[in-house]
Amino acid sequence: MFQGGRREGNLRRLGRFQGDLCFHCGGEMAYGEDGPSGNRGERGRLASVEHFVPRSLGGQGLLENLVVAHRRRNNDRRSVMPDAAEKARLEALNADRAELLAEVRQDISEFGL
Ligand SMILES: [Zn+2]
Repeated sequence: MFQGGRREGNLRRLGRFQGDLCFHCGGEMAYGEDGPSGNRGERGRLASVEHFVPRSLGGQGLLENLVVAHRRRNNDRRSVMPDAAEKARLEALNADRAELLAEVRQDISEFGL
């Protein structure tokens, strides 16, 4: 059964701005429809959306604050404040995706993430 098509599509759309590489480690990411259930080896490489500044530290659910990273890594850093180098990388990423940011700024829920 196909699940979460729209959300998955937007995850890929975001991931593409990062060359489909994890924001943190730079490793290749797999997307859910590539087979999380059918291919167990890919599981640790699955992409997920991460709040750059964690929600627990006041990060907002705005696209400007979202990056795509390996799910496992994501879990590891649930409440770590990003350092200056990471912030610079986020700014560069947001410059690359400025058009998309402008498009969905009004309503992130509409973007489906
Ligand atoms: Zn990673």
